[in-house]
Amino acid sequence: MSLPIFLIGARGCGKTTVGESLAQVLGYAFCDTDHYLQQSTGKTVAEIVAAEGWEGFRQHETDALIAVTAPETIIATGGGMVLAEANRCFMQERGQVIWLQANATVLAARLTHYPQSSQRPTLTGRSITEEMAEVLDERASLYQQTAHHIIDAMQTPERVVMAILNALPVAPA
Ligand code: ADP
Ligand code: MG
Repeated sequence: MSLPIFLIGARGCGKTTVGESLAQVLGYAFCDTDHYLQQSTGKTVAEIVAAEGWEGFRQHETDALIAVTAPETIIATGGGMVLAEANRCFMQERGQVIWLQANATVLAARLTHYPQSSQRPTLTGRSITEEMAEVLDERASLYQQTAHHIIDAMQTPERVVMAILNALPVAPA
């Protein structure tokens, strides 16, 4: 089976880290929708939001999802990809969807420790933990309803990869 594998989850849950190693193990290609979006528009996420608002950004995000979807590809999606019903249906129908689940404390610790992985404009006046808790409140049910498999992403990246391989009906190439 060579369907695309979509990794969903909040910023910092490990979509890029885990996605790259999973792609290596399976001999699949790796794509990141945020990265694709930046390459295709020549702008950062923050610049797109500043110029076109979040609505404009979300439209580009949907276009990016469709553009990168291909067989034998691991697709790391932007944290907000699940907000649009069309994106949720597309991923569910076209491939296997994996939610990398981590709590707000763990996410905040990673994003504080590795600020370069934080690509979103920050909302001022609140701690990163509060911000992540709010994001999870808003999105956890969407991640859950979209995912074919829910994986504990608070283990080492190696273990997360193993857990995904165990969950998936695929074998390494
Ligand atoms: P995402 O792509 O989902 O935003 P990243 O893969 O960029 O997340 O990971 C965010 C940060 O957390 C990176 O610095 C990465 O090294 C670290 N990280 C990712 N997964 C894990 C993990 N399972 N355990 C510890 N640190 C992790
Ligand atoms: Mg990423």
